[in-house]
This record gives sequence, structure tokens and C-alpha cells, in this order.
Amino acid sequence: VSPAPGTLVIFGASGDLARRKLYPALYHLFRRGLLHEESRIVGCARTAYSDDGFRDHIRPELTGGTDAELNEFLRRIHYHGLDYNRAENYHALGQRLDELEKGSELPANRTIYLAMPAALYPAIIEQLYATGQLTEPEDGSSWRHVVLEKPFGRDTASAEELDIQLHRYLKEDQIYRIDHYLGKDTVQNIMMLRFANLIFEPVWNSHYIDHIQLTVAETLGVEHRAGYYDQSGLLRDMFQNHMLEMLAMAAMEMPSSFSADAVRDEKVKLIQSIRPFDLKHLHDSVVRAQYQGYLDEPGVKPDSTTETYVAAKLMIDNWRWSGVPFYLRSGKKLAKRKSEIAIVFKTIPHSIFAPIKASDMQPDTLVLKVQPDEGMELTIQAKQPGPKLCMGGLSLNFRYSELPGGESFEAYERLLLDAMLGDQTLFIRSDVIAESWKLFTPVLENWQHDCPLVTYAPGSDGPTEANRMLFLDNREWREL
Ligand code: NAP
Repeated sequence: VSPAPGTLVIFGASGDLARRKLYPALYHLFRRGLLHEESRIVGCARTAYSDDGFRDHIRPELTGGTDAELNEFLRRIHYHGLDYNRAENYHALGQRLDELEKGSELPANRTIYLAMPAALYPAIIEQLYATGQLTEPEDGSSWRHVVLEKPFGRDTASAEELDIQLHRYLKEDQIYRIDHYLGKDTVQNIMMLRFANLIFEPVWNSHYIDHIQLTVAETLGVEHRAGYYDQSGLLRDMFQNHMLEMLAMAAMEMPSSFSADAVRDEKVKLIQSIRPFDLKHLHDSVVRAQYQGYLDEPGVKPDSTTETYVAAKLMIDNWRWSGVPFYLRSGKKLAKRKSEIAIVFKTIPHSIFAPIKASDMQPDTLVLKVQPDEGMELTIQAKQPGPKLCMGGLSLNFRYSELPGGESFEAYERLLLDAMLGDQTLFIRSDVIAESWKLFTPVLENWQHDCPLVTYAPGSDGPTEANRMLFLDNREWREL
């Protein structure tokens, strides 16, 4: 990978995401030699800071490295205070960027990262456009990219509206919608595992796979995000984006190449193949729950019916996955923090190891571990030490943290680098978002008049109703 050249402008630089994630990620890129020495990073927000004042603001988050490295990194950090509504501020920003780029031999590429509430995107993008900051030179000598954080709408209609507003001023190849789950090694490894090896793809289908479980469990509650979360709920916060993206990577067909559009074409096709929920029998395929004590959280409405847990059964109507259920669950305040995709294979059709029957054997399981301990684990049946017929599960375990060759990339590190290099593969395309809202908006609408909500104890594995859903299919959730 070549060092990322150009200028990065971070709107909302005074905020939590920028301070905790973006600047530390940029510092790591710098320490790996992946920020070109002439790259500039300009933070923007309303809060007044001098360049040095802003450097002091982010300095405590920049850990590791020598003093010389830290100082050299901070030298590239600039701050530009601006009121988002005033055109003259954007002109002044443009002049400041021109100034900083003067004399550089680099192409004047600019990546503009909007790290702020999504409601502000349309107005900021309109101002950026109106002041010429989004216009790419006709000779193609440099580009302007805009990176956006979720949420990308809260249902089909609002997502379409946002899309129309964005496309008024930007071409799709300028828009980088971020999903930090896609920056994780394990999630990217799904494609390498499936399409760079011969041994998995032949069994990656309904002939050999019994079902797939996708879990995103958190131990934390809503914390300081209650205001946003109570309006949103888990289905919007997790299912519509991170979980569907991961599911698409695990289940899509092989793209014609590893290019951004080829990969995203396959994701759209997969999401289009997910069977719409049967709204008349929604309770059979979706469990909606709230943790006990949620209503006492500061910032939560006392009579809130917002869900903090969802378990759902999805079916994919195509040749590869016919009849294979995909069980998805995610929740807050659960027993463990764990994100994983578990591919549970069918058991063998006949056992020669009498008296052990085929149905007594544990299914082979491949677990792609997304967090906290990125890696993968393949559990197979094997001879155990002991008498001749001693057989049981044996785990082949791989952890990214044990790989020689240094620390692995943080998700934001990789995604910032890709955005600055102009690689959209790990960013979400407009049609993927539209298709995922198409799947979940009817469920959200249904919940407006038929809103089943069960509760679960904090620190538990979730509500018993979720266990029942799998029990009725003669299956069970993996242990958290
Ligand atoms: P934030 O701290 O609430 O806001 C970032 C900055 O935007 C603030 O410092 C503030 O800067 C400006 N701002 C906030 N509200 C504003 C308003 N009503 N009008 C004008 N300016 C306002 O947000 P964040 O937590 O950094 O998150 C940024 C984006 O990333 C959001 O879209 C969020 O959903 C997403 N996100 C955040 C996290 C996270 O860990 N924080 C994780 C995933 C996604 P000034 O007052 O100085 O202008």
C-alpha cells in the first residue's frame, strides 16, 4: 500500500468520534509510514481552537511512539473554526486548504470526513458544493471524496431522501459511507477465506451447511448515547447496517473481481434474495426485547418501547441457500461482548463408529470471530486421547493477535486509509442501503401498531423467547 497523499478535512473534529477514533487511527497510519509526508489533516468545527490548542485537545489520545514521532504527526494537524451555516466560512476554509497545499507536488486530493450528527450532512454538503469545494478538476488530476457516518436514514423514505440530497451535489463514486465493521480483519477475511481457498467454497451451500448464526453481543448499555438510541433502537442501529453487511459477505456469490463495484454488486444481489418477513407471522421470525432497567437510564423516555435486543430468522431464496436458516441476534447488556459468524455444518449421513451414531456427533463448526478476539476457529470431530472409540470436538484456532509482523490495523485506520486512497470496496453503496431498508422498513412499520416487547435480565444471554425460536427449529444458539 502506498502512503495516502492529499488533504483530509474532518468536520466535527471537536467531537467524540474524531478525538477517540479518527485522530488515533491517523497517528497509527503515520507511524506505519502510510501518511504521505506532505499530507495535511485539517479539523473543522464551531468550537474555537488555535492549531496548538487543538493539538493539545487530541494529544492525550495519541499513544505509543516517540516524542519525535508525536511532534512530527502533530505538525500536520491544523484546525479551522467555522459556523456550518455561513458560506463565507467555507470560502475561508477553501483558501486555507489552498494555502496548505501550496508548493506541494501532490495531487490536490481532498477527503472530507463528516464526523457529526447525520442531520447536518445535507446543509454542509450543499455549502461545500456551493463554494466549489466538491468540484473535481475536469482533467481528473485530483478528486474530492466525502466520508459519511451512519445512520443513513431511519427507514426507506428517509434514506431515499438523504440519497437524493447527496446525489444533488455528489456522484456516487465521491461518496464513502462508512461501516466500521467492514474495517475489521475478520470481516475482510471472509472473502479471502471463501474465494482464495479451494476447500471451503465447495461446501459453502445448503448441501453441507445446516444453518448460520450471526451474533453481535455487547455488555454495555446505552451509555451516553441514550438520546440517539432511544429514537433508533437495535434493529436500526445494528441489523440494517453492520449485521446485514456481514451476512452479505458470508453468503454472497463470488464477485467477478475484488473491485469495489464487483463486490458491491454481489452484496446487493444477496440482500435482494433475502425473503421478506412474513408480517402476519412476524412473531415467529423476530423477537424484540428490552433489558430490565433500560427505562431508568438517563435520557430514556420513562415509557419507552425501544428495543435493545433483536433475534431474527432470515431465509435466502436462491439456489445456494435454499432451506438454510440464518439466525441473527444482537443486544445490549448481555453476558459477553462478542461478535461472530458461526457456520454450522450438517452432521455426517452415516457413522461407522458404532455405537456412536451420526446424530450423536457434534456438527463441524467454523466460527469467524469479529470481536473481541479477531480470528477464526474450526471445530471438527476427532480422536480424543483414550480408548479406541474416544471421539469429540477438536478446535483449530487462529488469532490475528498472534500473527507475527506487528499490530493489526484498527477498523478506522484501514477505512481512513482506503478513503484517502480512493478505494470504495469497504464502503457501502447507495443501492445496498436502499435494499436493506426495503427488508427492514416493513418490520419497523409493523411494530408501530403491533409492538411485542419482552424483557431480559442484564448480564443474561437474552430473552428466553429467542431460545424458543431456535428450539422450534430443533436447534440452539451457541453459547455467548
Ligand atoms: P458528536 O460528538 O455529537 O458531534 C461531533 C461534533 O459535531 C461536535 O463536537 C460538534 O462540534 C458538532 N455538533 C454536534 N451537534 C451539533 C449540532 N446540533 N449542530 C451543529 N454542530 C453540532 O458526535 P460523535 O459522537 O463524534 O459522532 C459523529 C458521527 O459519527 C455521528 O454521525 C455518529 O452517529 C457517528 N458515530 C459515532 C461513534 C462514536 O463512537 N462516537 C461511533 C459510530 C458512529 P462543534 O460544536 O464544535 O461544532
